Amino acid sequence: MKIGIIGLGLIGGSLGLDWMEQGHQVWGVSRQEQTCQIAEERGAVYQANPDLESLAGAGLDLVVLCTPISAILATMERLVGILPSETILTDVASVKAAIVPKAEAMWPYFIGGHPMAGTAEQGIQAAQSHLFRDRPYVLTPTHQTQAEALNELKPLVMDLEASCLEMDPESHDAVVAWISHLPVMISASLIAACWGQSDPNHLQMSKRLASTGFQDTSRVGGGNPELGVAMAQYNQQALLTALGDYQDQLDQIREMIEQENWLALRQLLEKTQEHRPYFIK
Ligand code: NAP
Repeated sequence: MKIGIIGLGLIGGSLGLDWMEQGHQVWGVSRQEQTCQIAEERGAVYQANPDLESLAGAGLDLVVLCTPISAILATMERLVGILPSETILTDVASVKAAIVPKAEAMWPYFIGGHPMAGTAEQGIQAAQSHLFRDRPYVLTPTHQTQAEALNELKPLVMDLEASCLEMDPESHDAVVAWISHLPVMISASLIAACWGQSDPNHLQMSKRLASTGFQDTSRVGGGNPELGVAMAQYNQQALLTALGDYQDQLDQIREMIEQENWLALRQLLEKTQEHRPYFIK
């Protein structure tokens, strides 16, 4: 197939690498000439150009919007008049309810999407093959979705060796608030609290002693700040709900420790040990 990717960063570049490897022809657009050049050199695209107009007349079957969340709808607006209206469009944004209804109103063949994989890095240099292998890839079709568009998009998701799931945009946002956006805020708070400890010698030693435990728990808090802000901005209510419940949980743990209720703490930790494998297979 001929696929357009707009925004050649971690996600756009990684999609390009896999689809090119599968024999699809990927046309890229990214603002910087240098990004386009690197994407071509790395084999993430067949060709790339900073000009959106370069996609006109390419005969693309599908275009994937992989820009930061804040640029997705504005980029779509610019595509009206450049691409034939029957081109299938999808996006990869980490939030869906703020995008899907407006995107569908603008483009009849739009389907929201969210590949559930990432790293703490950003930009085209961070793109990697097989990033989405064995990871969930959520599609958010609605009653307006054209069946033929969904049928064209699904095999491309399967080409990534991802597992394709369908959800409505609101349910998607409620769920990712818990398992993606809340962890970013918790992890960031952990780094900030450790960095803010009052004894400079302890801080110095903390940096030296931090090992696998800190590496695991701080990873998502050390990622792309623009993405973290967008998660909070575009999924504010669901994130606030999750943060409130998390804060209650922390208060309970604090109380158990203050009151030396080791039995209650042990019971809680036994439960969390039992439950974790249900989230992380
Ligand atoms: P990223 O690495 O920063 O890549 C975004 C790229 O888009 C940049 O490299 C930038 O390159 C380009 N860009 C920025 N504004 C643009 C515009 N107006 N038009 C065209 N290109 C533009 O970010 P990312 O992590 O790939 O995130 C991209 C999208 O994926 C976001 O919507 C995010 O919600 C979603 N997502 C991210 C993750 C994750 O864990 N990172 C996971 C799933 C989904 P130039 O400077 O060359 O323009």
